[in-house]
Amino acid sequence: MANMYNSDLLINIVILKRWESIMNHLLLELANTRHTYRKMINLYWATIILTVMLEYLIHRMKSGTTPEYFLSTLVLQAIGLAVATGVTEMLYRYRKVQSDDLLIITGIIYASSIIYINPTIGIVPAIYIFPILTSMLSFNKNRILLAFTLVLLCFGLLYTLTPELRIAMQPIHIIGVLFLYIGVTIIALSITSSGIELLNNLRQATEAKQELLVKNIIMDKLSKMDALTDLYNHKTFHEYLEKLIEQNERNQLSLQLAIMDIDNFKKINDTYGHWVGDIILQRVANLIKETVTPNDFVARYGGEEFAVIFTEKTLEQSHRLVEQIRQQCAMTLHTELDSQAATLSIGLQNYNKGEGKEALFKGADASLYAAKRTGKNKTVIQSVMIDHKGA
Ligand code: GH3
Ligand code: MG
Ligand code: MG
Repeated sequence: MANMYNSDLLINIVILKRWESIMNHLLLELANTRHTYRKMINLYWATIILTVMLEYLIHRMKSGTTPEYFLSTLVLQAIGLAVATGVTEMLYRYRKVQSDDLLIITGIIYASSIIYINPTIGIVPAIYIFPILTSMLSFNKNRILLAFTLVLLCFGLLYTLTPELRIAMQPIHIIGVLFLYIGVTIIALSITSSGIELLNNLRQATEAKQELLVKNIIMDKLSKMDALTDLYNHKTFHEYLEKLIEQNERNQLSLQLAIMDIDNFKKINDTYGHWVGDIILQRVANLIKETVTPNDFVARYGGEEFAVIFTEKTLEQSHRLVEQIRQQCAMTLHTELDSQAATLSIGLQNYNKGEGKEALFKGADASLYAAKRTGKNKTVIQSVMIDHKGA
């Protein structure tokens, strides 16, 4: 209804839209990372089972170690990996920790344990590409480089400490594996670069769109409002009045129009200056705004004229509000006017179904004219003069 035109609401829309976009952005980011993080932990749990099963099958195809020794090694590995994943899981569940570093380190522990248990398979160190790939999830080049460095260190350590690995790995294997690490790291870095670029472009596009939206709302507000009084302007007033009259014709919506004109305003300007006139205009505008209800519509109709549309009220209720405004105005003494008041003359007209905008306006105008002619600082309803002088 009328309050949808409330100027405060427009400002609120602007603030709300900004908040909404910021919150959407944050929520989206939060949702995405949480989702991926949960999936990664699940993947780690599944990998424990797969690793142990695969290693058991590989062992059965080979001979060398005793089954007992191998089984106990597998159990130890499974426990070790379960502890590492368990720590990540607990931190995530109970502390809401989502650390990409933790995921990378857990990944490196997995890969190292697999290499450690299967040193005789010459290409097994290739498995270190998985923690490097995991580091891509962070969308951070430093993390990828960190994963690469950790992989190099762990590979070096395992190579030094595991004689079987040294035997199994030909120099060509070492070169191949190092090339693989470097290659995967370079690919990971470039994918991340283009991903970051894409995200930045997307962010810029979204921000530009939001800025445009906010600008549109502000422009819309500016084109509807009067800059001095922050009331609706003449044009908006007519648009709105037309809409309300249409509604009145369709439904039983009560409608009254009041035109309020500051008395002897030219004299105020001439005596105290235009800037004092402007202050008085703002004060009277505020007084009107504060007195009417949210269902009413206040506009600056012309220079020192205001128009108020009352809705969902009887003529008596509107008259009471109008009188309240007039009396309050007459009681407000302004230091800028040497402690005098600025008074208002008001014409109030009820809308009768079918009579149209022009008749409503003419009625209110005639009442205002009658108020002026008969001494000012008074309200006239439907050209029936009610003299409130001295009220
Ligand atoms: P009346 O009691 O019959 O209404 O007399 P009045 O002097 O109020 O009416 P008149 O129409 O003679 O003068 C209105 C004055 O309002 C003239 C104009 O300079 C002044 N005015 C119009 N807009 C503004 C404004 O934005 N700021 C100021 N300071 N003065 C304005
Ligand atoms: Mg006037
Ligand atoms: Mg006037």
